Amino acid sequence: MTETPEKTVRIHDSMISLVGDTPLVKLNNVTDGITATVLAKVEYFNPGGSVKDRIALRMIEAAEQSGELEPGGTIVEPTSGNTGVGLAIVAQQKGYKCIFVCPDKVSTDKINVLRAYGAEVVVCPTAVDPEHPDSYYNVSDRLVRETPGAWKPDQYSNPNNPRSHYETTGPELWEQTEGRITHFVAGIGTGGTISGTGRYLKEVSSGAVKIVGADPEGSVYSGGSGRPYLVEGVGEDFWPSAYDREVTDEIVPVSDKDSFQMTRRLAKEEGLLVGGSCGMAVVAALRVAERLGPDDVVVVLLPDSGRGYLSKIFNDEWMADYGFLESGGASVADVLRH
Ligand code: PMP
Repeated sequence: MTETPEKTVRIHDSMISLVGDTPLVKLNNVTDGITATVLAKVEYFNPGGSVKDRIALRMIEAAEQSGELEPGGTIVEPTSGNTGVGLAIVAQQKGYKCIFVCPDKVSTDKINVLRAYGAEVVVCPTAVDPEHPDSYYNVSDRLVRETPGAWKPDQYSNPNNPRSHYETTGPELWEQTEGRITHFVAGIGTGGTISGTGRYLKEVSSGAVKIVGADPEGSVYSGGSGRPYLVEGVGEDFWPSAYDREVTDEIVPVSDKDSFQMTRRLAKEEGLLVGGSCGMAVVAALRVAERLGPDDVVVVLLPDSGRGYLSKIFNDEWMADYGFLESGGASVADVLRH
């Protein structure tokens, strides 16, 4: 795992061929006092900067094959940003248009990135029920009906979302750890990452690998009612069909404060400038790893980069306004248990 791979000179046909094969990196500092090995799967190495490039590619190619997406068609999707980036890159390279629908809690940085890739973005209120006509789910349905040649990937129900992880993320982890992985930890948004990766790892290890979901406190996955939380891209107020509940052995709820404090520690102590759902997943991974021993290998998936959150998580004023800086400089144990 520590050898330097041979440098090969290679030309990629387009950015699309850079999707997947992301690195696995050992966490050395936030793991103080933990004897298990904790490894991070760093998904911001994907060309669009997040894990969602994997599902974008798989969903688009499957829709081309089935005829649902025709040449010159328009992709319409409710997305909090990362899926949009992946879809926008694959779409522009293949000659499709994109219209994305985002909730208003998504940072303007993320929305501007989507527009930079040439997509159209429609912003909807967060504080309405999923059934409300202005909810981002309903607005996207209306756009699909009204746009000729429209196709909605629907990452929440599209089987090619978990399938992409079953076919790529899972096998990569098994190979990269040479079958030594004992626990896989990931946040749950659509549930695609944990369901597809988890199913592969369970199958290949005959059930030995334990699958742990990390969830914002208040989200339905950890028994909440869907009450608001600030960490982006994870947690839900409904149960999407992309999520296979059978796969997860345990769900660990994590507060916004713990998630964001850990996110800042990852940048400061591990050189990993990652997003808030990454901090959340690492808190869950460390809570699991605390109970384990030196033979255990915990892999935690870090979905995206911290660049989209500079004005929030990495901004002291924003953090202080929410009281997230209190007990700053706390020990690992404090942040983990608080
Ligand atoms: N973190 C971030 C930042 C995301 O955008 C997403 C996707 N919504 C996730 C985590 C969760 O991944 P999944 O949808 O595969 O459960």
